[in-house]
Amino acid sequence: MTDIFAKYAGLKAAAAGLTAHSPRNPFGVVIDHPVSATIGLIEGRETLLLGTNNYLGLSQSKAAAEAAIETVRHEGVGTTGSRIANGTYALHRKLEARLAEVFRRRHCMVFSTGYQANLGAISALAGKDDILLLDADSHASIYDASRLGYAQVIRFRHNDPADLDKRLSRLKDHQGAKLVVVEGIYSMTGNVAPMREFAEVKKKHGAYLLADEAHSFGVLGENGRGVAERDGCEDDVDFVVGTFSKSLGTVGGYCVSNLDGLELIRLCSRPYMFTASLPPEIIASTLAALDEMQARPELRKQLYANAEQLNHGLHALGLKASPHVSPVVAVTLDNVEQALAFWNRLLDLGVYVNLSLPPATPDEHPLLRCSVMAVHSAQEIDRALAAFAQAKQEILG
Ligand code: PMP
Repeated sequence: MTDIFAKYAGLKAAAAGLTAHSPRNPFGVVIDHPVSATIGLIEGRETLLLGTNNYLGLSQSKAAAEAAIETVRHEGVGTTGSRIANGTYALHRKLEARLAEVFRRRHCMVFSTGYQANLGAISALAGKDDILLLDADSHASIYDASRLGYAQVIRFRHNDPADLDKRLSRLKDHQGAKLVVVEGIYSMTGNVAPMREFAEVKKKHGAYLLADEAHSFGVLGENGRGVAERDGCEDDVDFVVGTFSKSLGTVGGYCVSNLDGLELIRLCSRPYMFTASLPPEIIASTLAALDEMQARPELRKQLYANAEQLNHGLHALGLKASPHVSPVVAVTLDNVEQALAFWNRLLDLGVYVNLSLPPATPDEHPLLRCSVMAVHSAQEIDRALAAFAQAKQEILG
């Protein structure tokens, strides 16, 4: 009998190598208990969380929790069905209407995760005669969407509208549709897309533009609608995809658009059709989190003040931190051993960040992905910076 896992021999060796050089498995961290939005109990110790996507701290929103409890009492814990069968409750429709209103678009589809929103929207929009143009640093869900659909895939250089322009110029005789996909804020580096320039390029070539604002919703723009709002080019973004699992603190995803065709996607998008819909209590807590996000715009201000403090602090320590201020800050290290040691030492010192290793990193260098929340105090960020200073001295000298 052929060993079905034989193909993973390389992975097995790499994983064993990692754990041999690390007192703990970097991909097996357990948060025993979230004490608050910013503190988690890890290995029995209160640890500062500096590596989440909980930008506004709403995963611990009391109002969202109460809404979930109330709803679960009246509607039960799950729908047991697909959105196109028995899995659409009034609440699903209410959330879709609410998101459409928030984004000022006519249509909204809610999916069970953000991953599925990309998978379901992109794979259905770009069919076999179409061309999908993806930023080279796209999230896995966008790459996976390109495999689920049948469109030809062309990658352009990360955050480079001129490169996109060049590639679209070569396609001027192509008969099918062209769909450009970019992200608002990139999850690993905190890089922000030059959305207005991308919008100009897509208009010039008669292409469609889809922006995944997963990390920028609730974070950027006067009303928190993301990079397109901040850059004043929302009318030129044809589809916005996003998730509830970051600034809203729950789970689920969506796609909004003014194009009526989006409604047709409900009948052909496999990740929408062939999976159970979101449980009602998740919808209720997401609606409550949206209320809170809109009622407390000061959270976005504080988030950026905190991002500035962390970014400047890391630069002052002489670390290779992202050049721009963004709630996500990547600290790049030279090699995996160094990154592993640094990450472990930070955790020993009571600070959790995300460890990202190649090939999952943009430029083949390992990085420590840090993210701030609006609800981090200045003292907590100072504490994190002190831990970085100590780990740097011990590991990098
Ligand atoms: N898009 C981007 C850019 C992401 O970073 C992520 C998650 N990290 C997703 C989509 C998927 O969202 P979710 O985790 O809510 O499924």
